[in-house]
Amino acid sequence: MSRRTIRGDAEKFEFQAEVSRLMDIIINSLYSNKDIFLRELISNASDALDKIRFLSLTDKEILGEGDNTKLEIQLDKEKKILSIRDRGIGMTKEDLIKNLGTIAKSGTSAFVEKMQSGGDLNLIGQFGVGFYSVYLVADYVEVVSKHNDDKQYVWESKADGSFAISEDTWNEPLGRGTEIRLHVREEELVKRYSEFINFPIHLWASKE
Ligand code: ADP
Ligand code: MG
Repeated sequence: MSRRTIRGDAEKFEFQAEVSRLMDIIINSLYSNKDIFLRELISNASDALDKIRFLSLTDKEILGEGDNTKLEIQLDKEKKILSIRDRGIGMTKEDLIKNLGTIAKSGTSAFVEKMQSGGDLNLIGQFGVGFYSVYLVADYVEVVSKHNDDKQYVWESKADGSFAISEDTWNEPLGRGTEIRLHVREEELVKRYSEFINFPIHLWASKE
């Protein structure tokens, strides 16, 4: 289902103030190196896959069926939706609320200050707020997530100071993991990503 409006019956939350300021800066930024959002999303997916594999060392059952190394990137050119899906640990409803909006990390205000004095947006990941770089290319983002301990939920926001959460009763069940859907702002960006995107990416760890 494609939509560009926040679900009316969703539970609404205000972003923590610093997070909201950070999102304002990102969405209004003229920064040209927009592709950094892909690095940040791949890094988050990779962390999520690491977490579930770590837990599986002591609990084999936890992995369930399917390929636990997979990360898929898909582009729907017509709907202008870029999706990144992983079979990592996923997020519970509480995780979505805390991690994506209500709890500011120590790096949030430091990064806002840096940006206000002309700092480089490329450093966003180092401040622990890389997720919000999605708003360099999207004006509406949905995060669909399923953690083993909870039902499947959707987080959605247009970066306007608030986000919404609903129990997901309409999308395909993920089983476990997270799908980030970026509703891409410009046709030009859709063209750019369509050149290299429709294939699955497998992640594997290097041996230390
Ligand atoms: P960082 O990765 O430095 O912690 P981010 O802003 O990139 O900061 O992400 C914020 C948090 O959101 C992560 O710490 C994680 O808890 C959660 N998160 C983001 N993406 C995913 C994902 N694909 N799967 C599970 N959790 C995620
Ligand atoms: Mg990250």
